[in-house]
Amino acid sequence: MMNQEFAKKSLSLRQQMSAEHIQEQMGISPGLLELSGQILKGLRERFDQIDETARVNQLKVLGAMQKNRISAEHFNGSTGYGYNDAGRDDLERVYADVFHTEDALVRTQITCGTHALSLSLAANLRPGDEMLSISGKPYDTLEEVIGIRPSRGSLAEYQVAYRQVELKEDGRFDFEAIRKALTAKTRLVAIQRSKGYLTRPSLSVDEIGEAIHFVKTLRPDILVMVDNCYGEFVDCVEPSDYGADMTVGSLIKNPGGGLAPMGGYIAGTKECVENCAVRLTSPGLGREVGASLQVNRSFYQGLFLAPTVTAGALKGAIFAANLFERFGYRCIPDAVSPRNDIIQAIEFGTPEGLIAFCEGIQAAAPVDSYVTPEPWAMPGYDSDVIMAAGAFIQGSSIELSADGPLHAPYAAYFQGGLTWEHARFGILKAAQKLADRNLIRIPSPEEGS
Ligand SMILES: *Cc1c(COP(=O)(O)O)cnc(C)c1O
Repeated sequence: MMNQEFAKKSLSLRQQMSAEHIQEQMGISPGLLELSGQILKGLRERFDQIDETARVNQLKVLGAMQKNRISAEHFNGSTGYGYNDAGRDDLERVYADVFHTEDALVRTQITCGTHALSLSLAANLRPGDEMLSISGKPYDTLEEVIGIRPSRGSLAEYQVAYRQVELKEDGRFDFEAIRKALTAKTRLVAIQRSKGYLTRPSLSVDEIGEAIHFVKTLRPDILVMVDNCYGEFVDCVEPSDYGADMTVGSLIKNPGGGLAPMGGYIAGTKECVENCAVRLTSPGLGREVGASLQVNRSFYQGLFLAPTVTAGALKGAIFAANLFERFGYRCIPDAVSPRNDIIQAIEFGTPEGLIAFCEGIQAAAPVDSYVTPEPWAMPGYDSDVIMAAGAFIQGSSIELSADGPLHAPYAAYFQGGLTWEHARFGILKAAQKLADRNLIRIPSPEEGS
């Protein structure tokens, strides 16, 4: 039997340690907590489905690691030329098994997603070839890679031509226009899964699969490259399962699980990946060189965590849409739509809204929470961008982060959260920031909804 005095003490201690109490101390108003609780009750079933997808992907990753007999030696890494780096080479086999491809290139020397995409294109296109994007305008940074905006070293400088087919009004592939756009010179078709800095819907893996099938049926000789950034592990299938020749992404997004300190991957056919390897290092050297230094462990461990980390980020995105729609903002995807990536766009309509949101996300970070993000000109982007990130890995956007270009419709692109608990808090902090500036009104707890 507990001493009565002690029982009282224990009760008060536990009250202080309740999430509600701590969040109030961290600046979240009771009305917002109440609203958040109501919204989350309605999301239980969806969150269960996300957990189920994470389970499938966890098993895929686990199976691939077991099949390739990963052991402690794989974490040793290499220096100098990086010859005989079993950790690096077997990690590439693990990626190939997870993506169900013949081969994969997973390297520290691939500096970011743009580099991985640029590499996949430059390695597999030759002068006189044409690249065709069938998902409309590609991600901003690719404009200079391709030469849509003239740039030193672009594919255009190497006589690689480029054309694009817009998505239809409803965001779907325009199959008739694609058929017409294919010419004898078309060598590669590019598809971007995620919306990037656009407010179109992101494409589902099934839609992408249908497009790959369509192109390959008409022209089996054409390569298909999919920009898979932010899409990994959101579904149980990946574009590679539908025959994409190259599936490409960044390790400081989903597949790095927040632990990979850098890097990119290309999973695909032996032929395409081999081309990428010799272009990344040098003809004749290819994949034999490239020291992994000390990052193999983080690559493996990050991949191992990636399915659940992605699931947490996905829950954050859905929660954000549900909360901000209540405040009258247009959210893309909307509160109820299925998800094809971890990005949530929220249109604030004014620079003040976008800036307040990003300040809130920054204030919720574990690192650099005390700094104020400012709009700034960024290399590769054609207008000022505001970015909020207090990340363990610089620029990592699988960690809780938000960014948006300072032009209409003043959309914040919100993503990540290494844990769902952190994503949830960050979203509340951002909403609170808007309320503190009278940009939104939070109902008082008594009002309910
Ligand atoms: C992030 C991203 C890229 C570029 O990746 P970086 O690592 O920022 O260079 C390309 N495409 C899409 C869709 C992205 O989300």
